[in-house]
Amino acid sequence: MKLNVTNALKDPGQEYSFQGEQTIAPQEISGDTVSFDPVQLRGVYSAMEDGSSVTVEGCIMTTAYGVCANCLEPASVQIEADFRETFQRNGDPEDDEIFSFEGYTLDFEKLALSYVLFNLPIRMLCREDCPGFMDGSDDEECLCQNEAPMQRPFAALQQLLAEKSEQNEQ
Ligand SMILES: [Zn+2]
Repeated sequence: MKLNVTNALKDPGQEYSFQGEQTIAPQEISGDTVSFDPVQLRGVYSAMEDGSSVTVEGCIMTTAYGVCANCLEPASVQIEADFRETFQRNGDPEDDEIFSFEGYTLDFEKLALSYVLFNLPIRMLCREDCPGFMDGSDDEECLCQNEAPMQRPFAALQQLLAEKSEQNEQ
């Protein structure tokens, strides 16, 4: 998301509001791929008196999609976070510690990505009380796997075994 801040630079100290969305690429996180809905951003921005920087303040919102840390089924989590950052004019874009901009345009990609990753839970769960993998007992099964296609091969196998034992009995 690119934001033209010409108005703020011409009128330092005045707050302007903004709203938009920033697409961020799927990220490889501890071996799993986590993807994201476009990040919604909204807030206000204002320029310093000397035009050397623009401060942005607001909140981000997105949904992250990954796998459940317990049962490996798909899991998603809503992410919402407040931010307040200062973009330095003509700062070093390679410097990870700062946000920078050139000319009159702020780019929110780095900000959105860093805030989303910072607020991503270490373990994603398909639901809060996911029991995880069950250890082979037949009368209890992981509820979060009920609808999963993974279960079908086992069901098919079970049926096959049942047919086999029927045949054996005959
Ligand atoms: Zn689960």
